[in-house]
Amino acid sequence: MTLIATHTEQGLDAAPVALYRLSGVTRTYRQKDRVVKALAGVDLEITRGDFVTIQGPTGGGKSTLLQLLGALDRPSAGSVMLGDTDLAKASNAQLTKVRAHEIGFVFQGFNLIPTLTAAENVDMALEPLGVTKQERTQRVEEALARVGLAERADHLPGELSGGQQQRVAIARAIVKQPKVLLADEPTGNLDESMRDEILVVLEELCAEGLTLIVVTHDSAVAKRAKRRLRLERGTVRDITRK
Ligand code: ADP
Ligand code: MG
Repeated sequence: MTLIATHTEQGLDAAPVALYRLSGVTRTYRQKDRVVKALAGVDLEITRGDFVTIQGPTGGGKSTLLQLLGALDRPSAGSVMLGDTDLAKASNAQLTKVRAHEIGFVFQGFNLIPTLTAAENVDMALEPLGVTKQERTQRVEEALARVGLAERADHLPGELSGGQQQRVAIARAIVKQPKVLLADEPTGNLDESMRDEILVVLEELCAEGLTLIVVTHDSAVAKRAKRRLRLERGTVRDITRK
């Protein structure tokens, strides 16, 4: 069993296929007496298997975009197609299902539960999926091995380095066998050597077919991406060749 559904398993041929298709996406927030346009008409396609980084100034709309891609929020207008599903029109129950099955999240602060071991933290992601106990155990072992932490399964987060904790968080994200990994500043709390540990893991996962979308302030991270986007004042620009 492979950890990540490959193109073939998804019934796709070798041609690039859009995983996401966003058109005319706006997201406005009401702040007291004014309306803030966090996203101002975004048109964007993201191909399966791509490694995309999103850079840009604070307040530019990066987290808002990631929340829409992650089925955590709906746009004020426009459509957010994930495969054949328009996340803008999906019910709350559908969005919950999409998040459980199709999307892995990684955050700057790792967000591990401190009283649970590495294996128990990873196992939690499988709870909503209704897989058997035996399969759960096997998938958790594989996910931890995948990020190089087979030997640390019984450790608590507090007994692990920052880089190791973030690798546990990546294992927790990929154990679901998601279509896409969304990461908001995944290396923001890490020193250079730990950042490189994480980048190696991310690149390996991408090479296996996982789509990566990473918000980052770190140009060392963006340099490793296949496609670089910049999000400023709610508008996306492709800066891959700059
Ligand atoms: P970034 O992640 O690039 O720093 P955000 O997506 O967090 O940007 O924010 C974009 C804009 O939307 C900012 O002006 C921010 O103040 C506003 N904003 C974000 N979330 C909310 C919210 N929940 N309520 C009101 N305004 C928000
Ligand atoms: Mg942000």
